[in-house]
Amino acid sequence: MAWENDLGDQMVHQNHHNIAETQLIQYFNLVVKSARGAIVTDVEDKKYIDLLGSDSAMNVGHNNPKVVAALKNQIDRFIGYDAGYFTNPTSIKLGARLAALAPGDGHNKVAYGTSGSDATEGMIKFARAYTGRSYIVSYEGAYHGTTYGAITAGACDVDMVRKIGPLLPNVVHVPFPNLYRRHPGESEHDVAIRFFNAFKRPFETYLPVEETACVMMEPIQGDAGIIIPPKEYVQLVYNFCHEHGILFAVDEVNQGLGRTGKFWSYQHFGITPDLLATGKSLACQLPMSAVLGSAEILDSLKTSSYVFTSGGNPVVAAAALATLDVIEEEDLVHKSAVDGVYAKKQFEKLADKYDCIGDIRMLGLNGGIELVKDRQSKEPDPDAAAKVIYRAFQKGIIMVKLNGNVLRFQPPLVITRQQLDKAFEILDDVFNDLEHDRI
Ligand code: PLP
Repeated sequence: MAWENDLGDQMVHQNHHNIAETQLIQYFNLVVKSARGAIVTDVEDKKYIDLLGSDSAMNVGHNNPKVVAALKNQIDRFIGYDAGYFTNPTSIKLGARLAALAPGDGHNKVAYGTSGSDATEGMIKFARAYTGRSYIVSYEGAYHGTTYGAITAGACDVDMVRKIGPLLPNVVHVPFPNLYRRHPGESEHDVAIRFFNAFKRPFETYLPVEETACVMMEPIQGDAGIIIPPKEYVQLVYNFCHEHGILFAVDEVNQGLGRTGKFWSYQHFGITPDLLATGKSLACQLPMSAVLGSAEILDSLKTSSYVFTSGGNPVVAAAALATLDVIEEEDLVHKSAVDGVYAKKQFEKLADKYDCIGDIRMLGLNGGIELVKDRQSKEPDPDAAAKVIYRAFQKGIIMVKLNGNVLRFQPPLVITRQQLDKAFEILDDVFNDLEHDRI
C-alpha cells in the first residue's frame, strides 16, 4: 500500500484546500462546487465525468430539475413535522408508491428511515420480531452500513471488533460465490453447489435452523467489487429459507432503483424476497431509506421500535416521489440495461489492449472491473487500480476502487452516450499511460 500512501501525500501537496484541515478526501482532492446530470464541477471550475454516481446514490443524475422543483415546492409548504404520531400527504403518497414496488403481490407496507444502515438494521429487527428467532445469516464481503446491526451483518474485521465491539450477537457469516475466482474446471453450476454446501454447513453443525430469523443478502454484492452470484445459488438459498421458515431479506441500497438494468437487483434471480431495504438514490442521496415488506411482517413491530423523527420527512419524500417519476418517465431501468451492454463492450475493447484487465462484471450501468498482475494467476493488482483512478481523476473522470483492485463503474443512469464515449476515450489514454509506466 506504499504507493497509495505516496499518492495521498502527493495529492495533499497539490491541494489548494488543505486536505489535512478538512479531512474530507479519501482518494483525491475533489471539492465539489456544483453538479448536473453526470457532470461534476469542482471549486476551480474543472469538470469531471462522474463514473461513481455519488456511490450509486444519484441514479437520476445530479440536481435533476424535476427533483429540485419537487423539493422547492415542498419546502415552500412546510419542512417537516413529527413522524411518530402524525404523518403528511407527501409521505403517505410515497408510502403507497413504495408499497406497490415491494416484492410480492399482497398487502405491503413501508417503514421509513434516514440511511441505508438503519434500513438494513431495520430488516434484522423485523425478521427477529416476526419469526421470534434470533439468528441472522449474512455474507462475507457484504457491506450493509455502519450502525451496529448493519456493521455486524457486513464483513466485520478485527479492527471493528476490537475497537467498537461487542457487535450484535447471533450473526453468522457465510462465503459469497465469486465466479471469477472459481476453482479450475468448475462450471457455474459447480460453484453454485459448492457455495450452497458452504451455506448449509453452519446449519449442519452449530446453527439451529429453527432459531434462524433471516438470511440477509445483497443479491449482487456492491462494495465487495460488484460480484454477481450464479442464479442457481441464490435460488437454492432462497428455497432453503422458505423450507425452514427463514425470511429472505435483500439489501438493495446500492444495487436497486434501476442500477442493474432491472428495477431491483433481486429480479435477476427469479425470487420474491420477504424484506427489502432501499436508500441512497431513492431521494438523490438526501436522508431517506425504507424497509419494504408485507403488512404481516411489518406489523410485527410497534412503530416506536423503528420510527425516526425524520423518517418519511416530507421534503425528502417529495424528492423520492420525483425520483421515482423520473425513473419511470425516462425509462431509466431499460436505459441502464442497454447502456450496460454498451459499456461492457467498451471495457472489453480495453481488455483486448490491456492485459491488466482480468474480469469485467457488468449488469446494467453497474460494473466491477478487476485489475490483476496477470490473467493466469489472477493476482489482484491494487497498485494498478490506484494509478488508474488517480490518472483518470487528473484527466477529468471520477472513479474509485473497491476491495483494493476493482474499478467501480456506477455512473448516474442519465449519463449520455456522448459522455460515456468521452469517458472511454480518456480511460484508453489512462490504461496506455499505465502500460508505459507513465503514472
Ligand atoms: N447497504 C449497502 C449495500 C450499501 O452499499 C450501503 C452504503 O454504501 C449501505 C447499506 C449503507 O447506507 P448508508 O451509507 O446510507 O447508511
